[in-house]
Amino acid sequence: MLSNPAAADEGRPQVRPQTEGWTQPTSDDGRPLLQFKQPRVAQPKTHLADLTLSERAAKVKELGLPGFRAKQLSTHYFTHFTSDPEKMTDLPAGQREQLVAEMMPPLLTEVRRLTTDNGDTIKFLWRLFDGALVESVLMRYPGRVTLCVSSQAGCGMNCPFCATGQNGLTRNMSTAEIVEQVVRANEVIASGGLGGLRRDGGHNAERVTNIVFMGMGEPLANYKRVIASVRRMVDPAPEGLGMSARHITVSTVGLVPAINRLAAEGIPVTFALSLHAPDDELRDELIPVNSRWKADEAIDAAYNYFVQTGRRVSIEYALIKDMNDHAWRADLLAKKLNARGRGWVHVNPIPLNPTPGSIWTSSEPDVTDEFINRLNDAGIPTTLRDTRGKEIDGACGQLAAEGDEDEGAEGTVTAGGPGRRPGASESIDLRG
Ligand code: SAH
Repeated sequence: MLSNPAAADEGRPQVRPQTEGWTQPTSDDGRPLLQFKQPRVAQPKTHLADLTLSERAAKVKELGLPGFRAKQLSTHYFTHFTSDPEKMTDLPAGQREQLVAEMMPPLLTEVRRLTTDNGDTIKFLWRLFDGALVESVLMRYPGRVTLCVSSQAGCGMNCPFCATGQNGLTRNMSTAEIVEQVVRANEVIASGGLGGLRRDGGHNAERVTNIVFMGMGEPLANYKRVIASVRRMVDPAPEGLGMSARHITVSTVGLVPAINRLAAEGIPVTFALSLHAPDDELRDELIPVNSRWKADEAIDAAYNYFVQTGRRVSIEYALIKDMNDHAWRADLLAKKLNARGRGWVHVNPIPLNPTPGSIWTSSEPDVTDEFINRLNDAGIPTTLRDTRGKEIDGACGQLAAEGDEDEGAEGTVTAGGPGRRPGASESIDLRG
């Protein structure tokens, strides 16, 4: 292993983050456009998952029905993952249709489902009530099932390496639209739709155990709805899904005031910061929001999250060849993290995934190893993130929710099927 950064970086160029194949929208001053406010404000009709249990009871009473019906409906939704009135046999037949219509308006229509060949990863494409498209990715690992959820249709953060940002922000997703992704995934798992084996060889992990807010959107730009959705995931049944907050990861590009607000929220979710560069010179170009909050401010906010919650935070770092993967950057990152304290953070590098039009490449394996080793040697626990779903364009940064030629056709197609964007995965070999 090379220990001298100058030697490790010798002959390495500095590639600048210029987009290829698409144009990054800019504001009048020529800087990459940031959209914090959604252009369209229409939200779906209120669903019971938008409400607390007592709010649901109040609404049911407004409909002239006894309040305890809210609890029964909630059990159907959060425990049995059903929104089908036919299955709600504990409700009077004459009231079921009305209750479901009022309390559970349809939120997500399945447009397409892509499954990897071994069946342990599924990417869902959903249509929202207004036609907006979002995706979620379901992954079975030994001993756990993780769902990567979307929090916005599109994204306003305009990161040049991420497919989601390429079409800007359509709108925030509602609390219930976020939660419904989990409920629908649970329904699929319960009906045997997710393959792969548990660590003990069994096949019956019946529900999603882990959530990552790493699908489409910037969760902290849709703060209130995202937090409400986390509460619904954590609330014990029948108010919510009864999941563990620790198993829920909120990932942000670095909206500092919102990170501080999250730290004060009192929900012990796992926090992840998408840093991708320790120096502002590069981060200014790589992460447009760095024009608002600099790398050090984002790291300070992450550290504050640890101080407030006692939860170790995670730094995400997509390794991009000759752009942000230099040994000196690993050293600088370690220095900045260690300057704030020990044991508060771990680093999760991920090899860059290809996006349409991009000529950027993931780092070479020896460079990746060098980067990781330097951080580990400096006392920062660092582990390469396993990237799932590449062959179905379901990996980090690849979610673009394009409803292409087979839109409307429900059912399962395997990787390489009609949903695949030509050229996206073939253009760059990441497996090396
Ligand atoms: N907006 C949030 C969450 C969405 S993306 C955030 O920025 O954290 C989840 C992670 O995938 C982020 O760390 C993001 O930077 C990373 N990512 C985006 N595009 C990627 C790509 N092409 N390859 C690998 N990771 C990518």
